[in-house]
Amino acid sequence: MAQENISLAKETKKILQDNGIRLNKNLGQNYLIDDFKRKKIIKYANLTKNDTVLEIGPGIGTLTIKLAEEARKVIAIEQDTAIFNILSERLENEGIDNVELINGDAVKVDFPPFNKIVSNLPYQISSPITFKFLNHDFDLAVLMYQKEFAERMNGKVGTKEYSRLSAMLYFKAKVDFLTHVSKESFIPSPKVDSAVVKLTPKKDGTNEEDFKAYSKVVKALFQHRNKKARNALIDSRNQIGFKDKKELKSLLIDLEDNNEELKELLLKRTITLPPEEIMKIALLLKNDVK
Ligand code: SAH
Repeated sequence: MAQENISLAKETKKILQDNGIRLNKNLGQNYLIDDFKRKKIIKYANLTKNDTVLEIGPGIGTLTIKLAEEARKVIAIEQDTAIFNILSERLENEGIDNVELINGDAVKVDFPPFNKIVSNLPYQISSPITFKFLNHDFDLAVLMYQKEFAERMNGKVGTKEYSRLSAMLYFKAKVDFLTHVSKESFIPSPKVDSAVVKLTPKKDGTNEEDFKAYSKVVKALFQHRNKKARNALIDSRNQIGFKDKKELKSLLIDLEDNNEELKELLLKRTITLPPEEIMKIALLLKNDVK
């Protein structure tokens, strides 16, 4: 194992040096040099020759080449043209012909069809790319994120990790923590540790319209994590389409008068409201939220 690690690190450095590449941290370029973690990531994806894998930010192909061995096809989207060219040449030299390489920004490019996702993500796009994934139908995703981000994805009600992100993901996907990856597993080493998580889409989630109202209520509430929901909504009324404080207050009073449960929910603090209860609030406000 140690020897393989040395060789993956050496191989990576050599490829970068030979091509005169200096990695750019602003593009989230932290390349995996830990062969043990690479093997684990590939194994978690449970690949067969029926799978088409989407990979975001393949870099010089550390995961890509292993994915291509096990899957039917890999679609890899790399934004950095110099890196894209290196990988393209490397795949050709190694005679790998089941990788479709796309040079572009993964947040903007349309994804071709796929059924699994495996990526060591560029961390600066963690949030938009995760929500983009969840607008597609797929079996599972094995993804590396910054550790803090991964913890917030899976934040439990009442903890400091419970966040807008946790609440937004709750109805879209099951999030399972798989393994930690330390800073030293990358070149250059990032400032923080990483974590690999598995996302499994919840296919019976919610309807689009309900989720829209939910998203707005979540955004308003989590701007005031420690306030009572009622005050959080009033303070962030612009997020749910209200300009006038009095107007929202009187609407809430009306709704509360007809619904004892809403009254109780709105007295709870944001971080103590589980996603199901936030959804109840959102549904009761749905006709008025804009
Ligand atoms: N998977 C490789 C590289 C991870 S670093 C490994 O594990 O070693 C992340 C990669 O994503 C970098 O190569 C970076 O150039 C690329 N990248 C950054 N922003 C991107 C974007 N918006 N779309 C596609 N690729 C991006």
